[in-house]
Amino acid sequence: MKYFLLISGFFLIACNLKPDVQKAPLVVDFSEQDDSTKLHLSNEEWRKILPSDVYHITREKGTERAFTGEYWDFTKNGTYHCYSCDNILFSSKTKYKSGTGWPSFYDVVHSSSIKSLYDSGHGMVRTEVVCRKCDGHLGHVFNDGPKPTGLRYCINSAALIFKSE
Ligand SMILES: [Zn+2]
Repeated sequence: MKYFLLISGFFLIACNLKPDVQKAPLVVDFSEQDDSTKLHLSNEEWRKILPSDVYHITREKGTERAFTGEYWDFTKNGTYHCYSCDNILFSSKTKYKSGTGWPSFYDVVHSSSIKSLYDSGHGMVRTEVVCRKCDGHLGHVFNDGPKPTGLRYCINSAALIFKSE
């Protein structure tokens, strides 16, 4: 497994050297595991397989700058998966324009795919959203979203990978 991850890491590094390459799916294929299968990788292992911006956001709870991510203004039909582990998280059907500069959704595909955690960092009390399968940080959820849920999942583009329908 470790050897495989290492090889995958080299592939990712090679891919990232090319400019103008569209965001590539993670080389490691976790898709056979369902969203209840926990992944237990150390940060050291994640660092080898994730691009540095994805690592920073998902493992160090970073936030990409507003209006800079790939998906904040993206309107194609399909599903959004966890970049780190391929867990299906959101659908274009519940994506909406929030005006915040981050991709925003008013619902998740399966409530079992994510986990909400209390977050009091940066002088704010917020609800953090993490992927239930890999525990990667995705963003936050707020209660100022549209009907029918009234929720706004404010997610970092870098934590997601889009798949067309
Ligand atoms: Zn994940």
